Amino acid sequence: MIGVAVLGSTGSIGESTLDVLARHPQRFRLVALAANTNAAKLARQVLAFRPAYAALADESAASELTRLLAGAAPATRVLAGADALEQVARSSEVDCVMAAIVGAAGLRSTLAAARAGKRLLLANKESLVMAGPLLIAAAKGAGATLLPIDSEHNAIFQCLPHGTTPGAAPPGLKRVLLTASGGPFRDTPREALEAVTPEAACAHPNWVMGRKISVDSATLMNKGLELIEACVLFGLRPEQVQILVHPQSIVHSLVEYVDGSVLAQLGAPDMRTPIAHALAWPERIDSGVESLDLLRAGRLDFRAPDLEKFRCLALAQAAACAGGLHPVLLNAAHEIAVQAFLERRLNFPGIAAVIEAVVERGTGGAIGGLDEVLAADAEGRVRARERIGGMARSASMKGAHA
Ligand code: NDP
Repeated sequence: MIGVAVLGSTGSIGESTLDVLARHPQRFRLVALAANTNAAKLARQVLAFRPAYAALADESAASELTRLLAGAAPATRVLAGADALEQVARSSEVDCVMAAIVGAAGLRSTLAAARAGKRLLLANKESLVMAGPLLIAAAKGAGATLLPIDSEHNAIFQCLPHGTTPGAAPPGLKRVLLTASGGPFRDTPREALEAVTPEAACAHPNWVMGRKISVDSATLMNKGLELIEACVLFGLRPEQVQILVHPQSIVHSLVEYVDGSVLAQLGAPDMRTPIAHALAWPERIDSGVESLDLLRAGRLDFRAPDLEKFRCLALAQAAACAGGLHPVLLNAAHEIAVQAFLERRLNFPGIAAVIEAVVERGTGGAIGGLDEVLAADAEGRVRARERIGGMARSASMKGAHA
């Protein structure tokens, strides 16, 4: 029995992971569930899976969880606070950690799992974007197995030779081709983007995902973060990653070798495939995903992304080339800008404008250790909030003059 901890269990990836685990009770034992504030959903998950631990980063939500369980799950210990998530990730009862917390909030627990030598199923791409070299070094040092959950990176991993070391491109690899659905605004004229709502941005045509990654897909920043993620995970230079808009989301990514061979991984757009792959690797288990019907799909299209319309992708490409702490600033400014967009304090093109202003003025520099990463993250957040505040003030002054 493999002991599994699911960090971010109340989210989209967390729920898909629980769906796969529930299909294999003889193989996996759910040891821990963890989230932030959603006590009601976590309580339901505890009653269904009876884990040894249930952790909530938010302390008052953890008290609420204890109240909701009301003694109905005596074998489950409720833990509270951000430290509890790291404790769970390191627990000796846990062999495998699904890192599915969204955003920079997932960095510490992801690092803790790597440092503890766990099998690390990495959905939290932001931790790789912020601290990729630290994470790879920690995993190597502790003998952790890193398995990508992002469907594109999982696809690339499946197309690489067995035994490829994380952070190092295998001999003979020429480049990777990272596919992107193009998001809900793929065919929306650029001028119309000013007026798009959070609801429209979150209505992804192919995937059902959390709100932040849905907006990231709409701006194509998701692909930008994935470009940085691919460089870190597979030891690539940014120019070795070609981004292709592929509206059908069937080819999840491709790897080209120096002899001209191009290998691809295909499948229905359902995250349970990469999750099941990483849970069982190197074996294969049923994921519950329907068979891919290529006859029904009919055609597969590919085209170049529009970098003028999707400025976030161009900014991420620049940060990938600059390296060091630039991706940390980009990620921090981006998280703050997306939150402001979701709260209707910023319009859609404003997301790229805020990030651009922050990365232009940011100090950058090399990644030394976690302290530098956290300082750059804090700097990026402060600058982004200032910028959003400035934009709001000038918009209200314009309104007053009108
Ligand atoms: P969701 O928004 O659906 O879920 C986020 C999860 O993170 C929730 O369980 C939430 O808990 C938890 N969380 C948020 N903040 C904190 C915090 N401060 N401390 C502890 N837990 C926290 O996100 P997704 O499942 O869509 O995405 C998760 C990660 O996986 C992201 O990094 C995303 O980029 C990546 N990913 C997602 C894909 C998808 O298809 N959804 C595909 C590929 C990658 P609570 O509910 O209590 O707030």
